[in-house]
Amino acid sequence: MIFLKTDEEIELMKISNTIVAKTLAEVGRNIKPGITTLKLDKIAETFIRDNGAVPSFLGYNGFPNSICTSVNEQVVHGIPDNYELKEGDIVSVDCGALINGFHGDSCYTFTVGSVSHNNVAALLESTKAALYSGIAQAIEGRRLGDVSFAIQQQAEKDGFSVVREYTGHGIGRNMHEDPLVRNYGSAGYGLTLRRGMVIAIEPMFCMGSNKISLSKDGWTATTNDHLPAAHFEHTVAIGRDKAEILSSFDFIEIQ
Ligand code: MG
Ligand code: MG
Repeated sequence: MIFLKTDEEIELMKISNTIVAKTLAEVGRNIKPGITTLKLDKIAETFIRDNGAVPSFLGYNGFPNSICTSVNEQVVHGIPDNYELKEGDIVSVDCGALINGFHGDSCYTFTVGSVSHNNVAALLESTKAALYSGIAQAIEGRRLGDVSFAIQQQAEKDGFSVVREYTGHGIGRNMHEDPLVRNYGSAGYGLTLRRGMVIAIEPMFCMGSNKISLSKDGWTATTNDHLPAAHFEHTVAIGRDKAEILSSFDFIEIQ
């Protein structure tokens, strides 16, 4: 079931999503060689709570931490641990926060120091470009398949593969609501988008094959070929002419 949001509720969602965006910026400021992903998790949790919100992920279906940190070949849902980030790594930081009864959700793939492999930078650029290609379709009257197709097309144009097992989603009073927002699909098909819908669009691209496996921890998804994967996500409200991004990356990218 899809829950349509009122303008007032979308304003509330802007608050939770802004906290998420600022948390990602705070985590990003601290990413450097030698820091552990567990330390980043503590920084995120402290920041979220200091802003009066609650980490959405902590305890969600038993998830043990406040953020997901997926390093290099880890695609999504990586559990923060004592791994020390090193120069040239990439780390996808996925974050959610709950305040005023509404969740925010966003993910950003950071580089640690400089990445030596040119194709890694291209992978990150392509995945982020796909996110914005999808967002450009998130307007009233378009179909959900238009969003999915735009994302898939970006991957194909750039020579990367799309993860199929994980998708974007509706979001609101629950972190995951209908509809599923796939990162592949057919233009002109699927649900007709309308104002009041709020969705998290979250492309995950792989440098090599999109074959992935779930780790023994039951959470972390990893590419089978151990090549890196990237993940960018925004929560957006369907707009009349243009989607409204509720979780801006501005906080991260002006640093
Ligand atoms: Mg997320
Ligand atoms: Mg999400």
